[in-house]
Amino acid sequence: MVGTRSTETRTPTRREFLKTAGFAAIGAPLVFSPYVQRRAYSCIIVGAGLAGLTAANILKQAHWNVTVLEARQRTGGRVFSFGFKENPDLICELGGEWVGDSHERMKALCQDFGITLRDHRFEASLMRDGVVKRPGQWDFSPQAKTAFEKFRKTFHGYGTKERLRLDRYDWWTWLEEIGFTEDDLLLRDLQDSTDFGETIRMVSAYTAATEYFESSPANEMDFKIEGGNSRLVNALSVSIGNDSILTGMPVANIKQRGGKVTVTAGYAGGKHQAERRQGNRDSRWQNFYCRCLYLYGAGTNAG
Ligand SMILES: Cc1cc2nc3c(=O)[nH]c(=O)nc-3n(C[C@H](O)[C@H](O)[C@H](O)COP(=O)(O)OP(=O)(O)OC[C@H]3O[C@@H](n4cnc5c(N)ncnc54)[C@H](O)[C@@H]3O)c2cc1C
Repeated sequence: MVGTRSTETRTPTRREFLKTAGFAAIGAPLVFSPYVQRRAYSCIIVGAGLAGLTAANILKQAHWNVTVLEARQRTGGRVFSFGFKENPDLICELGGEWVGDSHERMKALCQDFGITLRDHRFEASLMRDGVVKRPGQWDFSPQAKTAFEKFRKTFHGYGTKERLRLDRYDWWTWLEEIGFTEDDLLLRDLQDSTDFGETIRMVSAYTAATEYFESSPANEMDFKIEGGNSRLVNALSVSIGNDSILTGMPVANIKQRGGKVTVTAGYAGGKHQAERRQGNRDSRWQNFYCRCLYLYGAGTNAG
């Protein structure tokens, strides 16, 4: 489909009205006045995970025309709540699970949509060789505990250079380097993989340090969304408008040439075109992580 520019109207201020009225009085048609017409920007967002949906929702609230292209047949990305027919109250999170006390944006989003967060803080028991040890009955070695606390203090004084260096390490290797024994590392791997959804051999030491030193002592497993995380995904989708979210649309190619952006998506290789928005980048948007978020000028359309 070919992109079209769209406009939206707003009520002019008194000063604008008077200026426009004066302009109209000398013969210019009112409808073309810049004071009553404003271009509505359009945007293509790749990926309907929480990042993409949140970005789409914010742009939608700011009256942008948004199109979200999602490769899978469902929205939510790494967030997917499974419900049991046998017990509708029982929800199993197959991906992202916990909302941490420091996850300000998640908490604000839930509040915006009237979604309740349930306090879910707990301490961990450890079952080892068939023996269950309650919280307080198991611990890391004194050597590992001392090394961890020493690192905590050092980390708070880290500047950008040290943080970048830390980011080149995986969490396992870093802990080994500061003095964790193999047994401590195995325990840490067991404990921390529940936070990251993968072994600490795959997690950046910097990411892990921010998780444990810059957030709550409860390891960010503080709250759960009542009824499952997919509730937030669904609420965002409704707010954006389900018609604006196209599933089964893997984006294969994005080309920016001559002020035009062409996004090729879908199994039929349909083209989605937009004009690139030049300049005036609002720094608020740059805070959003999204697989791929493009802020376009008018003319975005689904092919
Ligand atoms: C098992 C597990 C447990 C976790 N536990 C927690 C937790 O407790 N707390 C927490 O905060 N986080 C947790 N996470 C992490 C959290 O789920 C993710 O950080 C978050 O969901 C990522 O959202 P996102 O939108 O950035 O990416 P994603 O959810 O990965 O969304 C990206 C979307 O883009 C789509 N996509 C990719 N490529 C294309 C393409 N070419 N064309 C079109 N679409 C495309 C994907 O299909 C996907 O839907 C966990 C993750 C896992 C896997």
